[in-house]
Amino acid sequence: MSLGSADAVVVGGGVIGCSIAYHLAGRGAKVALVEKDALGSQSTGKCAGGVRRQFSSETNVLMQQMSVRLLKGLEAETGVDPEFRQIGYLFVLTNDHQVADFKRLLSMWQRLGVSDARWVEPAEIRELAPIVRGDDILGGTFCPTDGIASPHAVTSAYAGAAKRLGARIIEGVAVTGIDVRGGRVSAVTTSAGEITTPAVFNCAGAWAREVGKMAGVAVPVEPYPRNIFVTEPMPAVTRDHPMTIDMTTSFYFHPEGEGLLFGMGLRNETPSFETQVDWAALDAMAEVVERRAPALGNAGVRTAWAGLYEMTPDHQPILGPVDDLDGFWCACGFSGHGFQQAPAVGHLLARCFVGERPEVPLDAFAHRRFTTGVVEPELNVI
Ligand SMILES: Cc1cc2nc3c(=O)[nH]c(=O)nc-3n(C[C@H](O)[C@H](O)[C@H](O)COP(=O)(O)OP(=O)(O)OC[C@H]3O[C@@H](n4cnc5c(N)ncnc54)[C@H](O)[C@@H]3O)c2cc1C
Repeated sequence: MSLGSADAVVVGGGVIGCSIAYHLAGRGAKVALVEKDALGSQSTGKCAGGVRRQFSSETNVLMQQMSVRLLKGLEAETGVDPEFRQIGYLFVLTNDHQVADFKRLLSMWQRLGVSDARWVEPAEIRELAPIVRGDDILGGTFCPTDGIASPHAVTSAYAGAAKRLGARIIEGVAVTGIDVRGGRVSAVTTSAGEITTPAVFNCAGAWAREVGKMAGVAVPVEPYPRNIFVTEPMPAVTRDHPMTIDMTTSFYFHPEGEGLLFGMGLRNETPSFETQVDWAALDAMAEVVERRAPALGNAGVRTAWAGLYEMTPDHQPILGPVDDLDGFWCACGFSGHGFQQAPAVGHLLARCFVGERPEVPLDAFAHRRFTTGVVEPELNVI
């Protein structure tokens, strides 16, 4: 069956696909977005909602400056409040190497316009984050205008606005094949029929490698399960407590409802599509929680869920058209940071699609880097 034609088919309706569909439609493109499940039901719906500018690569900092600006204007633009709460991001550092790195990064952040990011001594860390403990803390960085936003609200904002601009959003339909004719994309096959198109955006998150294979394009994205736990109410912790990250272990937490949301990357993680909560992860985190935020450890866990990080070898996204196949675009491999990058990514790729220069150079994120050499790996990965 024919599902008609489109200037571009977006594969995947997470926050990235919805942002791209909106921004492409805003530039006059006829867009069809195909989502095999429900919009925002995968990594986007499982994410911690963090939004920061404190990255190690300059391109990510510039992109995040843009994302923060776009998030702040999202309600005016789409009518939906993204629930962006600028409670700040606090990095807690415990070794000399981190101190040197973050002091160097701080001057880069300030040079790029993140003017309110600052160095904080251990005493100020205790004021900002009273439940944090540890004689080993050497200092940290704090940016009060970083924060958290709602993945559900941001995704709905973009999906709704895309529809109003004429984009077709098709849920419960899987892309099963990508047709290539004369060396370029010619159509997308789905479980409901075919869409003729000269362009495909691979926004399939943890499944980006599989969608790449459909077009014969190697997309080095691997799924890594990550757990999130939310505590019982903790009335002693204020609701504007900053997102706090113990850099050595990647243990992080921020206010969620009346409790705290927390998570941590574990050693010896292996790729898998498993999204059942791994309760053993809680035991693996226990020592770190007890040492860094014992009050959180004593609060009890009210709920938990698991989702997938979509990791690339250099922990940077893959953005833009690929050299191997005309009409095949990537917007995937966000390595655990895609929620906050979605506003800028949609805007920048839509500009590229209509032949305009993106305000932030995207060379560091080009697919070709996996053959020509990595330009700028991201080090501040949580
Ligand atoms: C526990 C956890 C915490 C996180 N915390 C943060 C955070 O604090 N800040 C942050 O910025 N990021 C965070 N992330 C990362 C963030 O969630 C992702 O980077 C982001 O959601 C990626 O969005 P996406 O649209 O690319 O992927 P997804 O939301 O996974 O969307 C991809 C979509 O593609 C669909 N799809 C796949 N294959 C097909 C197909 N063949 N046909 C049709 N549809 C298909 C899937 O069903 C899915 O809905 C976190 C992730 C996890 C798991």
